[in-house]
Amino acid sequence: NNIIKTDAPAPPGFSGEGFFATKLDSLIGMARANSLWPLPFATSCCGIEFMAMMMPTFDLARFGGERMSFSPRQSDVLLICGTISKKLGPILKEVYTQMAEPKWVIAVGACASSGGIFDTYSVLQGIDKVIPVDVYVPGCPPRPEQILEGFMQVQALSKSESLRRRDSDEYKHLLESYDIN
Ligand code: SF4
Repeated sequence: NNIIKTDAPAPPGFSGEGFFATKLDSLIGMARANSLWPLPFATSCCGIEFMAMMMPTFDLARFGGERMSFSPRQSDVLLICGTISKKLGPILKEVYTQMAEPKWVIAVGACASSGGIFDTYSVLQGIDKVIPVDVYVPGCPPRPEQILEGFMQVQALSKSESLRRRDSDEYKHLLESYDIN
């Protein structure tokens, strides 16, 4: 039941930049964290656990994320649930590119995180081969509670993230390393 997330240090220049800027950041972060719009990219069995997470027993709506978006342009959080073939990789990258900043990615389950049991010629060995990932949820499949916890990790990231992170050299460098513009 562990969530493994990237622990890259926060890019410099996002704190101590003045009372107004930091307070505005935290206010916007708080509003944003409680109104994230997820985009489910479900290709196989993990998608079923995602659906269970949306239902009343687990109820993502408690965290303000019930407004699913099937347009990348209106989404904040991309949840990859299932096996991603190498042929699907460029499409996934395209979907990610179409999302507006700021955006976050959750790799749900072993397949999305690392290829899982499908160590074959045709399966991408982790979506982080093509796009940056913020939170990895382990399991085959993960329980709905684990996916919820991953979502809460993204809420925490979005709360603490400065508006200026996306303009930072570090972030641009990260995107360049994935050849995403
Ligand atoms: Fe299916 Fe397991 Fe892969 Fe999830 S991690 S898509 S449950 S094989």
